[in-house]
Amino acid sequence: MANQHSHNAELDALHLLTQLVQTIEVGLVVLDRQFRVHLWNSFMENHSGQRASQVRGKRIFDLFEELPEAWLTGKLETAFLLNNRAFTTWEQRPCIFKFPNSRPITGQSPHMYQNLTIQPLSNRYGEVNNVALVVYDVTVEANHRQALSKMSQVDTLTGLANRRMWQQHLEQEFERSRRYGHPSTLMVLDIDHFKTINDTLGHSAGDRVLAAVGQKLGQLLRKSDVAARYGGEEFTLLLPETTQEQASLLAERIRATMSELVVETDAGEASFTVSIGYAPFHDGLKDNKAWFEAADKALYEAKRQGRNRCILALAS
Ligand code: GH3
Ligand code: MG
Ligand code: MG
Repeated sequence: MANQHSHNAELDALHLLTQLVQTIEVGLVVLDRQFRVHLWNSFMENHSGQRASQVRGKRIFDLFEELPEAWLTGKLETAFLLNNRAFTTWEQRPCIFKFPNSRPITGQSPHMYQNLTIQPLSNRYGEVNNVALVVYDVTVEANHRQALSKMSQVDTLTGLANRRMWQQHLEQEFERSRRYGHPSTLMVLDIDHFKTINDTLGHSAGDRVLAAVGQKLGQLLRKSDVAARYGGEEFTLLLPETTQEQASLLAERIRATMSELVVETDAGEASFTVSIGYAPFHDGLKDNKAWFEAADKALYEAKRQGRNRCILALAS
């Protein structure tokens, strides 16, 4: 009788637990060693549109082709092997399951951003034959973070000033030069044939190159100089108290340094050259826009003449 009572209590507890698993606002999936689905809670049903009865017993990679199979398999195998919990965040992999964004606001990601925890599960004999995937919807947090970084002053990939901050510096330096007549030079640098790096080594290798260029520029410049990532693979430098002669030497040093730089990436070594246009400040410049355009035109000329060179802007 006592036994029957405790058995009922256990069933009650199990019943409650099942409801909890079903209704909790995170995705819960249990897989076996062949990556077949054993448990699929309502969160997963609601966001994937696939019922538990449809997915049970099937390989998860057959069900969801968008899953990064090689990468996720590696993580799962490690969890099985070492009996270790693993985490991945939306910053590494924004959307593991391509679920629609459940809180869409215009202009934001159409997909749900996710964090993922991989939790090994052991059976009654202590054997790890299953793993749980715990999927968190972090869309709100991710959107928030992205909005913040857009407002910030730093380009996250290179650590240099972003275009917004650069614009403020340019306006200030233009006014300062005009008022005090100090020498000052503006430089624009663009990586040559950068598209080829992306095309041959992949986009993330391209990102590594951009980060390396940013770091190198930081090392080559003075504290008072401002280096910015102006756009994709285009950088701008503002060099206060720098004459045309000094700027010529620096431009050449930057060009030579970049041409010798070898960047280690996951896909192999990347080398490249850069083209540079530079424009010393002079009184004939109408506004800061004209100053920038002078340097940009010189950059265009450097490209036209065959790249991997530095061109001084015409003082017109
Ligand atoms: P050119 O010598 O004339 O400058 O040729 P290019 O290939 O460097 O110039 P183009 O403007 O044709 O291509 C620039 C490429 O840069 C295209 C774009 O996909 C890539 N790009 C822009 N931003 C990023 C980024 O943040 N990361 C990576 N990896 N690539 C980027
Ligand atoms: Mg380029
Ligand atoms: Mg460009």
